[in-house]
Amino acid sequence: MYERILIPTDGSETAETAVEHALDLAEQYGAEVHALYVVDTNAMSLSLGGEQLDRIEQGQYGEMDEVRERAERATGYVTDRAAERGIDTVEHVSAGRPHSMIANYVDDNGIDLVVMGSHGRSGVRRALLGSVTERTLRSTRAPVLVIDED
Ligand code: ATP
Ligand code: MN
Repeated sequence: MYERILIPTDGSETAETAVEHALDLAEQYGAEVHALYVVDTNAMSLSLGGEQLDRIEQGQYGEMDEVRERAERATGYVTDRAAERGIDTVEHVSAGRPHSMIANYVDDNGIDLVVMGSHGRSGVRRALLGSVTERTLRSTRAPVLVIDED
């Protein structure tokens, strides 16, 4: 049923909770695991220019150490936890509007399940879903499994 599972992660605790669910499913289904971190240009457009965003997509961070660290910590967490179970992962970092980049990644890579957190780094506790999750639900046709924070 599921061959390629995408975990979009912002490195938050809730996203990390979602990782365990995704890995368990990957194990059950023998699915490939993809981890995607999006450098949020809504949040960073004031400090990053278009050329820098292109470079991020190519893995060339130059002076952008903080961006690289945050991205690699988020996707690396997935890879580390997956390795403990003997599962390989594909790590990817892109730059743009998170929900758009998630939807694009789903289309471009034949993703058939998305597993993500209900909330993220903003730390705002609400009854509603976080905006990235809500918009992802609206912009992708793949099934999305939303894991609530503990
Ligand atoms: P908001 O951002 O609307 O203030 P929030 O930070 O609490 O709210 P979201 O940003 O929607 O909530 O995060 C929900 C989930 O979406 C996260 O657990 C993670 O799985 C995913 N996500 C959020 N931001 C990103 C990102 N930049 N890259 C990849 N995945 C993300
Ligand atoms: Mn957020």
